[in-house]
Amino acid sequence: MQNLREKSLLINFREIESPMGANLVIDGKSVLNFCSNNYLGLANHPKIKLAAKNAIDKFGVGPGAVRTIAGTNSLHNDLEKALAKFKKAEDVIIFQSGFMANLATIPALVGEGDIIFSDELNHASIIDACRLSKAEVIRYHHLDTSDLEEKFIQTKKQSNEVTKKLIISDGVFSMDGDIAPLPELTKLAEEYSALLMVDDAHGEGVLGGKGRGITDHFNLHGKVDVEVGTMSKAFGVVGGMVAGRKLIIDWLRQKARPFLFSSAMTIPDTAACLEAVKILEASDELVKKLWENTYYFKNAMTRLGFDIGNSQTPIVPVMLGEAKLAKEFSKLLFDSGIFATAITYPTVPLEKARIRVMISASHTKDNLDKALKSFKRVGFLLNVIT
Ligand code: PMP
Repeated sequence: MQNLREKSLLINFREIESPMGANLVIDGKSVLNFCSNNYLGLANHPKIKLAAKNAIDKFGVGPGAVRTIAGTNSLHNDLEKALAKFKKAEDVIIFQSGFMANLATIPALVGEGDIIFSDELNHASIIDACRLSKAEVIRYHHLDTSDLEEKFIQTKKQSNEVTKKLIISDGVFSMDGDIAPLPELTKLAEEYSALLMVDDAHGEGVLGGKGRGITDHFNLHGKVDVEVGTMSKAFGVVGGMVAGRKLIIDWLRQKARPFLFSSAMTIPDTAACLEAVKILEASDELVKKLWENTYYFKNAMTRLGFDIGNSQTPIVPVMLGEAKLAKEFSKLLFDSGIFATAITYPTVPLEKARIRVMISASHTKDNLDKALKSFKRVGFLLNVIT
């Protein structure tokens, strides 16, 4: 702990005293929220709250068991069907969170003697799940399909016919906001007889028609074997999912350990997620607003002279370098009423500390202008922009 404190790497987190949204109360003070994953503002949506309340009245709260013993409520099956339709996938299985979905899926698909090809910036839940699987993990350079192909060629000699190969990539990279080259990945998967898995945690509700996600964005339906996702971000609730071919989803229902050995999603969470799907299917208004806000904010930040990396999405990494600087920047923003947490090691590499601004459809233009004004003032003060 002392060591972390001395290196400015101790994580301090704030307590929120109000509902989740663009406006928050923290330490008794009203601030504008620029760092939650509540992309569409659904976390406190009246229809979603009502759906959760009604479900509690009808079914209670806890699932009472794991799905395979006595924990499958009709809401779980309804949600899986609604998600399969939404994702235009053959089938969907739900999990308690996105992290769980990765832990469940990877060890069920590959094991000792198999090979995983993993983008070097993949999410921690993918990294942990790969380790859990006991398969050999080969990391390829971030987004670099030539490097991936090179690694396929190198391993071709060593791998025998029965070795399973799995390519895994985040869809949208959570700390940088860039997008995986999914069309090229599907081609490589086909050419080298590998399974392809993408984690669409930050694509759901953001990319594709009506926020259907990265597969829809690239129109690759049927070409991605496994699409992991989360309902903890744009859906405004908590939950995980895996969409894909029916055979694979059926297999996960038999073999995925968090499905077999951890209790099902709670009743209110499940009902809330179901309502979120209905809201997304009914209109793309929120998704459009999210993108309008994103372009407005990112263009202004670039004009101000900030380095916002290569983001192609509403994730805006304001690159600062040293953890100490990122923390000081975040503190000064907070003092001026803008809540945007500093992100430091181990979430990002040591010298790549940043403030990750998360844009939401719930921000008004006035909210965005206030944030821009604060970023400009603090940026000058700390010599980040000149
Ligand atoms: N995958 C990625 C790419 C993520 O960014 C996250 C959330 N940080 C997760 C999985 C985990 O999702 P959840 O919060 O639902 O566990």
